[in-house]
Amino acid sequence: MIRYIIILFLLLIFTGKASCQDIYFDLEKLAIQESRQKVLLSNYTENASSGETDFIYQRMEWQIDPAVRYISGKVTSCYKPLSEVLDTVYLDLHQDLHVDSVTRNSQKIQYKHLHNKISIPITDIPGLEQVDSFSVYYHGVPPGSGFGSFETNVHGSLQTPVLWTLSEPYGAMEWWPCKQSLNDKIDSIDVIVTTPQQYRTASNGILVNDEINDNLRTVHWKHRHPIAAYLVAIAATDYVVYSDTLALDDERVIDILNYVYPENLEIASTQTPVTAEVMQFYNQLVDVYPFADEKYGHAQFGWGGGMEHQTMSFMGGFTFGLIAHELAHQWFGDYITTSSWQDIWLNEGFATYLNALAIENLKPNDWPGWKKSTVENIVKVTDGAVFVTDTSDVNRVFDYRLTYQKAAYILHMLRWVLGDENFFNGLRNYYHDPEIANDFATTAQLQKHMEEAGDTSLQEFFNDWYYGEGYPVYALNYWQPSENELRISLSQSTTHPSVGFFEMPVPVRLYNSDRTQTLDLRLNQVQNNQTFTVNPGFQVSFVELDPDYWLLSKTDHIVNVPEISDDNTFSVYPNPASTKLYFSCSANRNVKAMAIFDVTGKMFLHLEQKKGEIDISYLPSGTYLFRVEFEDGLVSQKFIVQKD
Ligand SMILES: [Zn+2]
Repeated sequence: MIRYIIILFLLLIFTGKASCQDIYFDLEKLAIQESRQKVLLSNYTENASSGETDFIYQRMEWQIDPAVRYISGKVTSCYKPLSEVLDTVYLDLHQDLHVDSVTRNSQKIQYKHLHNKISIPITDIPGLEQVDSFSVYYHGVPPGSGFGSFETNVHGSLQTPVLWTLSEPYGAMEWWPCKQSLNDKIDSIDVIVTTPQQYRTASNGILVNDEINDNLRTVHWKHRHPIAAYLVAIAATDYVVYSDTLALDDERVIDILNYVYPENLEIASTQTPVTAEVMQFYNQLVDVYPFADEKYGHAQFGWGGGMEHQTMSFMGGFTFGLIAHELAHQWFGDYITTSSWQDIWLNEGFATYLNALAIENLKPNDWPGWKKSTVENIVKVTDGAVFVTDTSDVNRVFDYRLTYQKAAYILHMLRWVLGDENFFNGLRNYYHDPEIANDFATTAQLQKHMEEAGDTSLQEFFNDWYYGEGYPVYALNYWQPSENELRISLSQSTTHPSVGFFEMPVPVRLYNSDRTQTLDLRLNQVQNNQTFTVNPGFQVSFVELDPDYWLLSKTDHIVNVPEISDDNTFSVYPNPASTKLYFSCSANRNVKAMAIFDVTGKMFLHLEQKKGEIDISYLPSGTYLFRVEFEDGLVSQKFIVQKD
């Protein structure tokens, strides 16, 4: 899912000043401000017994009219008991909807509808692995919560009614009896919707029937892949329909079915064809589109943004970014679904990063700008974890900076840490893991695949970047005793106390004076104030830290510190020192001043003194420079302070 405000988007386009990247960035920011204005709290509580049944099939038969906010219908559920002591089957259904009856084997049976749950006592429980079924007949006016789980509106100059659903995260139960918990996908569904005949209804899977009787149109969509309840959706209006297609190497053709508003047909038909190009890219990057035997589709709706309903994303518009984001969710979000709203980044971080990879590969000119604006927006705030601790706050679950941007950057940094080959292997292994494919995934499972692919532990990485908050602020000092020897001292502070130190390889680029020679370094920082010695082979005049935006970080300063002498012009001792330092130099040298700096360039002491004892008890452990100003110039030496 991704949300934004279309009106502001258009406004920004017509001002014509901002680049595409700026527009994308600004509207996301505005969307965040907008969403802050209403507090979205969930009243959904999971069934204690949701693990006792395995829903294998649901058949929905709905009657709707886009001009009226109302639904009536019959939902038949087939399940297998997973527990021998099962005595009650539960469905989630909001209290505002009225249950007319529940039937089993064509007989009306007892049920209760309390606290947004239908409980159906089962006295003659079928054996384990045997299929049982019942049907719920219901009707009512769905309540509105979350992002508007069941909405009606109008579009176009004719004010044509449109109705759509958007259940993520807790809204499925607000319009149909379902099992909303993130632990049991429905293995297969049929969606049969009847509307006044002028409307078409879009939904999951393939359209197997479309007929008109007595001025009513009934469409039948069939979907034969496991699907989470929140990804079941319908949208109905006077859609016009056209297809784009993608031909695969094995001669299969994937139908990309577009349901758009008639007034939008002309522009949409120029915007949607890129979907095939992006799908081809994801097919190669991960695996062939998981629902290739059915279809992929877009249905236009009146919400600002998009929602990745399985095989039929609902779209507020057809920008490259929105198309790429919602399409990516079919792999990450739909085929593999987060097993908890705490781990929502497994949906949104992945869709955001796949969209970014599509930019990197298909629109490379926009790639540096995407990275720059994303990093800048994340580090604007010095705290915030990607892991969601309060899942009742829907605004936090879908916080754009954390759940989308920082989450995508965790993946980008994993790629940097592991290298491209290992990272993309880990990504594909995670996708193909039989325990999570077509099912639900946890962050621990992703971590395991990335660790195996990189043959390394990532516990520290996940502690710092996923559960921890903030980012490192780097300070880099360098000096070059000779062309073949460059010394770099790297220190960092962190912006949030939850992480004391970010153990990361730090990319550094060296340039000569006219920038015709460069050298890229990967400084594996494992402790603070670490010093690295490299051979650049040229005189270094400029140094850049993370020029390609691999990291979430800021740079405090990069300083060329005074040269260090090895010529024994003077000496300071002992080295390492603890509380006192002694200075001496040859009698024929005239000392003007002495100073002590730390590796960030901060001066601790400045005195005019020729020799003697210097109190350094106030200096914390670390590496320092002792600089002496002689009449003929500056000479520095490094010394170490080591406290017990
Ligand atoms: Zn999304």
